Amino acid sequence: MTTRTAIVTGAARGIGAGVAKRLAADGFAVAVLDLDEAAGRRVVEAIEREGGRALAVGADVGDESAVQAAVARVANGLGEPSVLVNNAGIIRDNLLFKMTVDDWDAVMSVHLRGAFLVSRAVQQYMVKAGWGRIVNLSSTSALGNRGQANYSAAKAGLQGFTKTLAIELGKFGVTVNAIAPGFIETDMTAATAERIGVPFEEFTKRAAEQIPVARTGRPEDIAHAVSFFVSEGAGFVSGQVLYVAGGPTA
Ligand code: NAP
Repeated sequence: MTTRTAIVTGAARGIGAGVAKRLAADGFAVAVLDLDEAAGRRVVEAIEREGGRALAVGADVGDESAVQAAVARVANGLGEPSVLVNNAGIIRDNLLFKMTVDDWDAVMSVHLRGAFLVSRAVQQYMVKAGWGRIVNLSSTSALGNRGQANYSAAKAGLQGFTKTLAIELGKFGVTVNAIAPGFIETDMTAATAERIGVPFEEFTKRAAEQIPVARTGRPEDIAHAVSFFVSEGAGFVSGQVLYVAGGPTA
């Protein structure tokens, strides 16, 4: 079988880095797309040390021409992409009355506009190949979370985006699913702990007390779910939202 190429956005750290490493271990050539190409190169080196193939590509997922150039670079340098994981994300948390228009727009630009632009740029290769897998990172925050009106709206929006792409692209052999993580230990949750003034260790301990499996999540937990969705055998699973949160969600 020829090697398939995957693009993981926001893959220089956190969940994205975990997903990139897992997909490389699964046998994909992996484009580590991130704002910071130098940071992406560290993930590429880690993948190469394990015998995998990867390429670091710097691009802002919210920038249309940068996305087009980045996807073309992946197609030429690594292979035409048939797997896409829309993972890049930011938080700009605040209660509604304090949330600025910039906080709102920045979050929409990375999560929604970003997922739209990269999916649109990549789908042509999937349609041409008659095979593709798109996985979008939603969140338990899609169900509502105090201080995250922007993020919650974006993550709920990604669920609608996922279902619509699943309907549009299914006949071309492309499945589209979403993963909605609960609390995962990354710089993003560390930033939340810092914002509310709680040491990260204490923050994760308190979170774990509320989670049925009695621990917080790790990037590998999400990477495992991504690995399933992009696998050959998951071709009849599309338009789904999988909550990966250590327990049931409302
Ligand atoms: P993270 O540690 O903050 O990493 C996010 C990555 O995305 C960073 O490498 C960041 O680059 C990159 N990025 C940000 N804006 C970008 C842009 N415009 N273009 C390209 N790359 C960009 O976050 P994480 O915790 O791994 O989260 C990954 C995804 O999972 C996000 O979509 C997040 O919303 C979602 N999620 C996370 C959790 C959690 O508990 N951690 C829970 C639910 C959902 P820089 O380093 O250069 O800023």
